Amino acid sequence: MIHLKLPNEIAKLRSAAELVGKTLGEVAKYVRPGITTFELDQIAEDYILSHNARPAFKGYPGPHPDHPFPGSLCLSVNEVVVHGIPNDYVLQEGDILSVDCGAELDGFFGDFAYTFAIGEITPDKKALLKVTAESLYEGIDRARAGNRVGDIGYSVQQYCESRGFGVVKELVGHGVGRALHEDPQIPNHGKRGDGKKLREGLTICIEPMINAGTEKVCFMEDGWTVKTEDGKAAAHYEHMVCVRKGVPEIISMWDYIEEVVTPPYK
Ligand code: MG
Ligand code: MG
Repeated sequence: MIHLKLPNEIAKLRSAAELVGKTLGEVAKYVRPGITTFELDQIAEDYILSHNARPAFKGYPGPHPDHPFPGSLCLSVNEVVVHGIPNDYVLQEGDILSVDCGAELDGFFGDFAYTFAIGEITPDKKALLKVTAESLYEGIDRARAGNRVGDIGYSVQQYCESRGFGVVKELVGHGVGRALHEDPQIPNHGKRGDGKKLREGLTICIEPMINAGTEKVCFMEDGWTVKTEDGKAAAHYEHMVCVRKGVPEIISMWDYIEEVVTPPYK
């Protein structure tokens, strides 16, 4: 069931997104060699809870009924594509770290992600971040009323695969609103003109998960962690977008992050 949003609902989504943006901005202040991913998770959780909101990922049911997601952030280092569980791993110079944050505020969900560079990273990792972020904006540009879901996926896939990167197919973007994950699914691959038609007021998360090497991934036994099969790095950028008749409206913002760090994808 697809829910098109009214202006007052989009305003609430924007508020939830703003809180996620500020949380990521707070986390960004501490992203450096020597900190553990668990410590970053605590910073985010405290920030969200102290702003009358709820961490949306914490307790989220997974494929194993006994293992809901334990953290407030998904923290995915290097070959971890997404859904990394906060733990005692100490960030090292040269790592890349994908931080995905979700929060529920006043009945609406914010959900977006950013991949950070820890200190100096290799040119290969830099190229991965650049292509992943650029592919996201390619996808966003197709989020126009009258286009179809496949137009978004096609543009992300083409952009990345033509440059030699692997597009993860098993995990997808999604609608967002009063639920964290709403219809329709928004894959990062597809055919032009395929799938559901996009309509004004549809709010979606577009989130390319892109690998430096093979597109193949493995699912770990913790029920969450997704890694690249070849052990090469992966990146993940995500925005919340409202479909418009003309230029798509990006509801989420990386501004709070980029007040703190230089964009690693440029
Ligand atoms: Mg997300
Ligand atoms: Mg998402």
